[in-house]
Amino acid sequence: MKRITTRVLLFSALVLGLSALSSSQTPKKLKVFISVDMEGIGGLVTGEETSEKGPDYQLFRQLMTEEANAAVEGALDAGATEIVVRDAHGSARNILPQLLNPEAKLIRDWSGGPLDMMEGIDKTFDAAMMIGYHARAGTPDGILKHTISGTIFDLKLNGKVVSEAGLNAAIAGYFGVPVVLVSGDLAAAGQAKELLGEVSTVAVKEGIGKAGRMLHPEKSRKLIRTAAADALKNLGRYKPYVLTVPITIEITYTREDLAIKPALYPGAKRTGERSVAFTHADLLEVLKFYLVAAE
Ligand SMILES: [Zn+2]
Repeated sequence: MKRITTRVLLFSALVLGLSALSSSQTPKKLKVFISVDMEGIGGLVTGEETSEKGPDYQLFRQLMTEEANAAVEGALDAGATEIVVRDAHGSARNILPQLLNPEAKLIRDWSGGPLDMMEGIDKTFDAAMMIGYHARAGTPDGILKHTISGTIFDLKLNGKVVSEAGLNAAIAGYFGVPVVLVSGDLAAAGQAKELLGEVSTVAVKEGIGKAGRMLHPEKSRKLIRTAAADALKNLGRYKPYVLTVPITIEITYTREDLAIKPALYPGAKRTGERSVAFTHADLLEVLKFYLVAAE
C-alpha cells in the first residue's frame, strides 16, 4: 500500500513537472519585421557600391545580406518565432536569398503598393527593425544621405522633417508596431533617436564629408546582433511612433517643375515654389499620395 502510494505520488509529480515544463517552454509569439536598405550598410561609401551596375556590387550585396542576418540572429537569440526581411533598396532584389538565414522569410521586389520599404508589415508583428539606413537629404556628414530620391529636397510629416526611417517608423506605428532598432551611419542613427526617443541604434560607420570611417563588418554584425537581441528582450520599453491625425505630408522638391503634377492629386495643395502638401486622417491615404508624388 505504502509502495503504491509512493508510486502514485511519484507519477503525479512527474506529470505536474512535465506540464510545468511544457507550459514554460511553449514559445510566446514574437514576430519581427526587418526592413533592410543598403546605403547604411557597413563598409560601403559610394552610390556605385549600392548599384547593380557597380563593379563591386556583388561584394556589397553580400555584406548587406550578412548585416540582415545579424539582425535575424539577434531576433532568434531573443526567441523570435517569425521573422520577415524586407529588401528595401533599389530594385529590392539585392539580398542574396541563399545566404539569408533560413529562419527568415524574404520579401523581394516592389509590389507597387503604398507600404513600399515596409511591404509585408501588419498588426501581427511585435517589433520592427531598420538595417542599413541612411540620413535624410541635407544632413552634414551623412553617408549617401538622401530622402527617397535625388529629386526630393525634404519630406515633412506633421511639420517635422523626417528621414526614410522616420516615414517608415510612422508606417510601423500605423500598425501598432514599435521600431526597436535602427542601424546605419552615425547621422542616420542620431536622426532616428531624435525622432523616436527610445530606440536602439547601431552606427556601423561615420561620415567625414563625402568619406567615411568604418567599423569592420564583423564588428558591425556583432553589435547589430547584440542590440537586436537586447531590444527584443526589453520590448516593453519601445512605443509605436503614431502620428497625430489629421496627418499632413509636405514634400519639397529640388526644382519647381517637379511640384506641378503632384499638386494636381485630388486634395493636394501647392504650398510653395517647390512644395506640395496633402492632408488626410488615414495614413494609408497619405501614403497613396506619397506614392504618386515621390515617383
Ligand atoms: Zn537605398
